[in-house]
Amino acid sequence: MDNTILVVNCGSSTLKLALFDGNSLKCTATGLGERLNHDDAVAWIDGIEGDIRLPAGATHRQALEAMTRALSDSGLLAGTPTAIGHRVVHGGENFREAVLIDNEVRQAINECASLAPLHNPVNLSGIDSTLSLYPNVPNVAVFDTAYHQTLPPKAYLYAVPHSYYRDWGVRRYGFHGISHSFMLTEAARRLGKTPATTSIISAHLGNGCSITAIRDGLSADTSMGLTPLEGLVMGSRSGDIDPGLFDYLKSKGVAQDQLHHVLNHESGLLGLSGQTNDMRKLCDLAEHGHEPSLIAIEVFCFRLARYIGAMMASLRHLDALVFTGGIGENSARVREQTLDNLQLLGFDIDDQLNRCSGEYSDGHIESAESKFPVLVIPTNEERVIAREAARLAIASNGSETPG
Ligand code: ADP
Repeated sequence: MDNTILVVNCGSSTLKLALFDGNSLKCTATGLGERLNHDDAVAWIDGIEGDIRLPAGATHRQALEAMTRALSDSGLLAGTPTAIGHRVVHGGENFREAVLIDNEVRQAINECASLAPLHNPVNLSGIDSTLSLYPNVPNVAVFDTAYHQTLPPKAYLYAVPHSYYRDWGVRRYGFHGISHSFMLTEAARRLGKTPATTSIISAHLGNGCSITAIRDGLSADTSMGLTPLEGLVMGSRSGDIDPGLFDYLKSKGVAQDQLHHVLNHESGLLGLSGQTNDMRKLCDLAEHGHEPSLIAIEVFCFRLARYIGAMMASLRHLDALVFTGGIGENSARVREQTLDNLQLLGFDIDDQLNRCSGEYSDGHIESAESKFPVLVIPTNEERVIAREAARLAIASNGSETPG
């Protein structure tokens, strides 16, 4: 019988699907739905010609139905999946690892929606859709926050009245945990170590950006907080700001909901450059002398460098600094400009290795003089979700775990 794992990743207006072979964990198909809940919603699947037909304003559920039907009709999905893995953004303090979804888990994910109103409801709609499409298939939730549940109180508490934490759960939760934990496993493998004895600083730089100090395999500090707004400069999110800004802008007539929108969607690289949230385009603009783009990149790299320094406070030794995510994997300029700020700490990269990192399978870009290894490792969150779904589905049947 076919052993196929379906991975579902619902974003606020996107739906990413992937199929994996449950034994080898090789990806066999990927698909993307975009602009969902908008008139011009579209979807396609790699390897299937043309768009997948969607009704105007298609919801996540409608896109999921159309895309899985297309996967079945094309033969990419034979029969039903063995297990389905869902990315869930916020698991609060309830989930330290991936879990099989039952009513209780569903309820707990729903309760965390107040902490992630843009993400958890849409994650739940993906879960509900696959539960009704494939009623007898195990569904597994893999949380972005779970890996960070080992943060010590000194790293997760804000210096605000303790009752805010006790009564309302106000604390730093951290995100991108699926990617950071994958960086740990991959870095350890490349360094010939076990994950449990490996300490790294993992910088995930995509549209959202976060950095995590991993000490002996465990998340020890991270830059994102109660929400994914805190920390590094991102594509359109501000990252850290002075909370005093709220009152000041209020006095200037900026309403609370407007401020929320500005900090999440009009700030970061986009806000600084006034042009784009796309690092590749910014680098092009900067090369053509566009001053605001140059400055946007400089602020991005300087904030990142400050955080790399800050992450050192959680470690006793450092096995490697790791770059990942669309920017981390592809932008030699960002890596170079960031580490230029950190010469005092002894990071040094080899120019040529940095420019050609993709061609070197081990990902090392440090120079011979560098005090620490520096690695570029492609992230693969979907594969982690597939692995967890396969593992828990098999465990629920009482058989062996795949390799
Ligand atoms: P998401 O967080 O949405 O998954 P990605 O991890 O795909 O995003 O990262 C998207 C970012 O990666 C964009 O800013 C994009 O410009 C940047 N990026 C991709 N390729 C390059 C490149 N060659 N040089 C610089 N930036 C790049």
